[in-house]
Amino acid sequence: MKSLKIIDGSPDLVEVQAGVTGANDVLVDVAAVGVSRDDFTALANPGVTPGRRFAGTVAAVGHAVTGFAVGDVVVSAPPGACGACGACLRGDDAYCARAEVLYAGIRPGVDADGGLAGQVNVSEKFLALAPELDLAVAAFACDTGVHAMHALRSAGDAITAGNTVAVLGTSALAACTRVLLDVVAAVEVLAISDYSAENQAQVLADFAHDGIAAVLVMDRTQQACDFATAIAATGSAIVLAANGTGEALVQPMPVMRYEASVRAIDYANRADLIELLKVLKLSPLEVEHERVCLDEFASFDADRLAAIEPGLVVVV
Ligand SMILES: [Zn+2]
Repeated sequence: MKSLKIIDGSPDLVEVQAGVTGANDVLVDVAAVGVSRDDFTALANPGVTPGRRFAGTVAAVGHAVTGFAVGDVVVSAPPGACGACGACLRGDDAYCARAEVLYAGIRPGVDADGGLAGQVNVSEKFLALAPELDLAVAAFACDTGVHAMHALRSAGDAITAGNTVAVLGTSALAACTRVLLDVVAAVEVLAISDYSAENQAQVLADFAHDGIAAVLVMDRTQQACDFATAIAATGSAIVLAANGTGEALVQPMPVMRYEASVRAIDYANRADLIELLKVLKLSPLEVEHERVCLDEFASFDADRLAAIEPGLVVVV
């Protein structure tokens, strides 16, 4: 089968043997993969096929697998982690203190071969059932969709009917967040990508009465972070997503409203994906996003890989 490898910084398709299925592993025929620049920069591992977030159909299962059967439609999922450390006990299994030990060597697209191939062999812990979804949409959902869902859930009670929620940015992640907000909460959604002082004054004037209860920042720029802290109301929630570097972009904030909270988020917890899949059963995720086929993707150069915006789906 074809498998994408990074050779001297650029992708190349090579022919490899189909994966072997271990006792707790599932062999998946890959249909589509959601990719981000981190797959090819921060997380790139020489010799490993990238692709952490994929959708496909189960081709074979190991003898100890209980949750999946041949023919099931699946998406990759955050593995859920240990359930005993501080992060897991508060529901933040994405930051499990024991994940490095529990999953060393078996994380698809990180230290084991990932989804940019005809098939991927993966521990069942990294999968979830997604039977009702189109496979390219499923790949978008388990990548960008779950990231958006984590941002919404991170804002907590600020996402409550009647509140105003601002979403900053123009990416597919920002669009996806707005679509999800419309589906899950009766909030007024404000799309912002003009971070000028004039627009800041306008937003503050327009929403002076009730204030903006949550600001979801889907943009990696300091400008967007500054805008967010300027418009967030007293007691509001600011969520910084799409950071990529593992650290918040915000510089020490000169002015911030009392009781406002800032939360910098990484990807998502397993519960976010389960919640998203429930939502998708009721309402499709209609968000425009870019798609390329695997052959075309293999012609990208290193610069293009490093510039991938959230939301790109590679169809295998
Ligand atoms: Zn843990």
